[in-house]
Formats: sequence, structure tokens, C-alpha cells
Amino acid sequence: MTDAETLLIEQARQNLDPKAVITDPKEIEPWVTDWRGRVHGAAPAMLAPASTDEVAHIVRLAAEHRVALVPQGGNTGMAAGATPPADGSALLLSMRRMNRIRSISSDNRLAVAEAGVVLANLHDAAHEIGMRFPLTLGARGSCTIGGLTSTNAGGTQVLRFGTMRSLVAGVEAVLPDGSVHNGLSGLKKDNRGYSIDQLLIGAEGTLGVVTAVALRLVPAIAARAVAWCGVENPERALSLLRYLEARTNSVEGFELVPQDSLDLVLRHVPNTRAPLTARHEWHVLIEATTTDPEADISAELERLLGAALQEEIIGDAVLAANEGQAEAFWKLRDSISEAERVEGQTLAHDISVPVSDMPAFIVEAAAKVESAFPGVVASGFGHLGDGNIHFHVRAASHAAPDWYSEEGANITRMVDDLVTAAGGSISAEHGIGQLKRDELARLAPPGRINALRAIKQALDPLGIMNPGKLVP
Ligand SMILES: Cc1cc2nc3c(=O)[nH]c(=O)nc-3n(C[C@H](O)[C@H](O)[C@H](O)COP(=O)(O)OP(=O)(O)OC[C@H]3O[C@@H](n4cnc5c(N)ncnc54)[C@H](O)[C@@H]3O)c2cc1C
Repeated sequence: MTDAETLLIEQARQNLDPKAVITDPKEIEPWVTDWRGRVHGAAPAMLAPASTDEVAHIVRLAAEHRVALVPQGGNTGMAAGATPPADGSALLLSMRRMNRIRSISSDNRLAVAEAGVVLANLHDAAHEIGMRFPLTLGARGSCTIGGLTSTNAGGTQVLRFGTMRSLVAGVEAVLPDGSVHNGLSGLKKDNRGYSIDQLLIGAEGTLGVVTAVALRLVPAIAARAVAWCGVENPERALSLLRYLEARTNSVEGFELVPQDSLDLVLRHVPNTRAPLTARHEWHVLIEATTTDPEADISAELERLLGAALQEEIIGDAVLAANEGQAEAFWKLRDSISEAERVEGQTLAHDISVPVSDMPAFIVEAAAKVESAFPGVVASGFGHLGDGNIHFHVRAASHAAPDWYSEEGANITRMVDDLVTAAGGSISAEHGIGQLKRDELARLAPPGRINALRAIKQALDPLGIMNPGKLVP
């Protein structure tokens, strides 16, 4: 521990609740490795404020002593953005004790949630007042509003509701000089220059600490219909989406799953079974919803899928018979990353290209990678309708333990080159963190890099907010 860190911790102890300063290594240890277990960090202390005032106090101490802070929510991020450096040169700033929903209103269609509120808890609170926060993803039981905002998370309902950027009405944050930016008023119109709120969304903790967020709510759904379809290829899957969209506006989830990913889930995740008896090369999980209690959404989706079957857009389809089955279908989709972790070494690439190019991209990029690196298995799954898939490459079973850093690095460069050549993004929804920073530096146009650096320097001249992340 450096002298500056020791001094900061002593002063924090004098001024904050004892629960806000944690130095027991056993309590810190579970939080210094990223969710995928690939990046291991260290931190001499974990600060856990319970209020915006406490966060401001901590940030002022950090600025005074030039000690870096790494904000952290649920630690479910996929780019190791919340993992502190391995040399112990930063303190963890856990936001999980700031977990109050300050207000929630169906009249205003707004909730103001503190940064540490877990997404599933916000879902429950909205449900209780007949409303809904329409962003969800597999980590909903652990990820937090602060983390979701700071990564501009997407998830499975982006098709209709957009990413966090379109669901955040305002942000309260402590800026690197310790001042508090309060954007929680939820004003529909506010043109006082640059939007600080929007700057903080997707900033991955590099421009300040998000302490609370005003979030847009929509009416709760009256019913949903969930279906699982077998399709020949991603091209057909996209045709199916367009076919449905032309006939209904009730589709809000549309996830592509290759047979290979489904096989992994069935092998490694207990209590899972294939929805369709026959094997299909590709599958699509569809969710359609309605807010109208009189509407029969299941009948509507069944009719449309029947017609799509007739037109040979899909090979087969089954509708979830009840909520339990609907959850079981979603579990298959949400468990892919977990199943891959059990299977072995997997490289994850969260990429986007223009939607219409994605079907060909998935197939062609997988073939190129598999041919260049014999033995690996490449495939893409996820949010096809957003032009965003998770392009994952699994190591051969005999791969050496250093596969990630050796062959893996070359594979990632190849995938990122293919994405860039296709006019896409090497990070669609997971952010840059520390895992993609070098690739951002290699591939982003100079104008983008210069702007990122200039903004960072202007707001955080001392470099105390999550150094080493996002900004090359
Ligand atoms: C099973 C699974 C499925 C997932 N599915 C999706 C998906 O479909 N779509 C998607 O977009 N993501 C997905 N993710 C990734 C992840 O859930 C999101 O990135 C989420 O937003 C991270 O929230 P968190 O609270 O865990 O943040 P953390 O992992 O703790 O932090 C993420 C980043 O935000 C910063 N940060 C956290 N809190 C604050 C704060 N209060 N102020 C400032 N900075 C902060 C951290 O420093 C870090 O840079 C998935 C993850 C898992 C494990």
C-alpha cells in the first residue's frame, strides 16, 4: 500500500461510516477478478459509500492524495472495466450500498434509482406500480443501474426500446473534482450546451462516479408470447424478423442461437432441454408482448409463425405453453456464456455491423477464422435485429493454457479487422474496459481517439477515475 493510499484510508475512516471502508482482504478478494475470471487485480481497500455525500467526500480525498478509484457495481461487465490494476495502485469504489429507489412514479413514468440498485429489483419495483423498466439481460440478478449506465448496456429488448442511452432521463454523478452534477430533474427539454448526462453514459467510470439515475418506465405488459424457431441460416432468421415486423409491432425480443451454442447449454446447464425435437443449424428465440389485456398475443404469434412456416422462412417453431416454458426458453439463451465457461477457453467478441450485412458476416467470418486457426470453433449468437452479435471463438480441446494470450490475441485481431472492414464496431454493447483498449487504439480513427483523450483530460486532469480503462 502506498503512503498516499494509507493516508486516504485513515482520513476516510475518520469521516465515514465504518461500513464504508473495507480493508479485510477476504472481503475484497471476490471483487478483484472480472466476471469471466480472466483478469486478476488487487486493491488495498474497498470503499463502499452509502450516499452521494460520501462518494463526493471519497472523490475529494482521492483528488487530494492523487489516488485512483475504480468504480464497481455488480462486477458483471464483460470488458474487465471494474477490475482494479494488479499492482494495487487503485482503490475499489463499490457502489452496492447505494441501493435505494429514491422515487418511482407511473404518472411521470420515471424512477430515480441509486447506482447500486440491482436491475431485477428495479424490475420488481416497477411491476408493483403497473409499470416496467424495459431493459433486461442475463445478469439482471447482479448488475446495477450504475454499471448499466456506465457501459450503456443493451440487452435483449433493444429492438424496441433502445440501449440505456435512450432509457436514461438524467444522471446524478460525482465528477473527478468532487463536485456533484445533478441531472435528475428528468426535463424533456434542456439545451444548456453539452449533455453531461450523455457524456457519463458509456463512460465506464472514467469521467466520474454515477450515484443515481432517472430512468424511463413504460406500461407493464399484459401478456407475452415466447417462441422458439428452427431456421436454416442467419439470412432466414433476418427474413423472419422483417416478415414479422411487417405484420405486427409486438415483437420486442429476437435472439439468434446457433445449434452449437444450444448443444453446449444442454450439456452443461442443469434442467435444460431442447425446445424442438429435430436439429436445426440455427434457432431464433422470439418474444412478443402486448399491454392490452384483451389482446391474444399467443394466437397472433402462432398465426404469424404458421404463415412463415408455410412460406418456408422457418423450418419449425414451438410456442411456450406457459410462463414456466417461456422462462425455460429464455434460460437456454441466457446460459450460453455460462455454458461456454464450463466447456473451456472461449474468446468473446461483442461486435456490430450494419443489420443487413450481419447474416453473411457471421457465416463468412466464422469460416475465415476456422480456416486460419484449425481446431477452433467460431460462431455468433445474440441480438441479430440490432446488428449486434456475440462472435465467440472456442479453443480446440487440446489448447494450451496460454491460448488466450497467444493464438487468442491473433484471432481477436483478425475478427476486429473483419469487423472494421465491414464498417462495424469492435464493441457493440459491452464497452472497451481494459480488454479492448489496445484494439480501440489500433483501429479507431485518430479523430475519435483524440476526442476521447481531450474529454478525459478536461474532466479528469489528475487521472484518478478508473485509469487504464477505455481511453487509449
Ligand atoms: C450473463 C451475462 C449476460 C450479459 N448480457 C449482457 C447483454 O445482453 N447486454 C449488455 O449490454 N451487457 C450484458 N452483460 C454485461 C453486463 O451485465 C453489463 O455490462 C452491465 O452493465 C454491468 O453492470 P455492473 O453493475 O455489473 O457493472 P460493473 O461490471 O461493476 O462495471 C462495469 C463498468 O462500469 C463502471 N461502473 C460501475 N458502476 C459505476 C458507477 N456507479 N459509476 C461509474 N462507473 C461505474 C465500472 O468501472 C466498469 O467500467 C452481461 C453480463 C453477464 C454476466
